[in-house]
Amino acid sequence: MKLDLTNPGVSVYSVVSQPEPTATEPTKAEPTAPEQLEKAQNPLKKNQPAEMLTPQMIALMNDQTKRAVADAVGAIMEKFLPALEKLSAPSPKEKEEMEAIEKFRERSAREKKMGALQDEENRRNLKIQQKACRHLDGNERSSISLVHNFYDRLPRGLCMKCRAFLEPRHYELLPPSVKTPAEAEKFVRELVKQGQITGATPFVDPKTGITTHILVDEHPLYFRVREQEAQLGVVS
Ligand SMILES: [Zn+2]
Repeated sequence: MKLDLTNPGVSVYSVVSQPEPTATEPTKAEPTAPEQLEKAQNPLKKNQPAEMLTPQMIALMNDQTKRAVADAVGAIMEKFLPALEKLSAPSPKEKEEMEAIEKFRERSAREKKMGALQDEENRRNLKIQQKACRHLDGNERSSISLVHNFYDRLPRGLCMKCRAFLEPRHYELLPPSVKTPAEAEKFVRELVKQGQITGATPFVDPKTGITTHILVDEHPLYFRVREQEAQLGVVS
């Protein structure tokens, strides 16, 4: 090749040199800043065509995920359930103990019921005995023994034969469940019906307005205690 140096308009390099690819070339389009930003927000979008991400598709994916999770949990539980059942099931020794406890409970309930029945019968028999008792000993003398040192300084009488307790007019505490005069009267009626007392007057606490006590009437035979008390110290 002959170099023509006289013509500076033509460069030898202009023949051999290739045009350098420039950044402005449209072969490889760079995503715009907004596009990049969007991609950064949703990385899944990068590998999937846009039409795949319809709401239906997303719903389907969610559904599949849910099902997969449920299946996985189910499989785990399936493995563990027999072990759990085994753990919660009582051992033969525990079973034996549980049976023994149950038997004991049944027996206690039975005995309690029997005991209550027996108590009731005893009370009934005692009442009959007391009603029939003349409170006199073999020598036709009073079998009533006087009891002193009570808070109200009034004597009581205790029959040594039938255990009847002859009390004067006195106060008795009401159970906490009884609060109003009406409730107290109902309670008194029940006591009278059972032959426990002959009558009583409810007492309302003036400070609280709650019926706290009943003033129980004296025993129908209390006059005998009074008589015996009067004879104390009298030489017969
Ligand atoms: Zn008696």
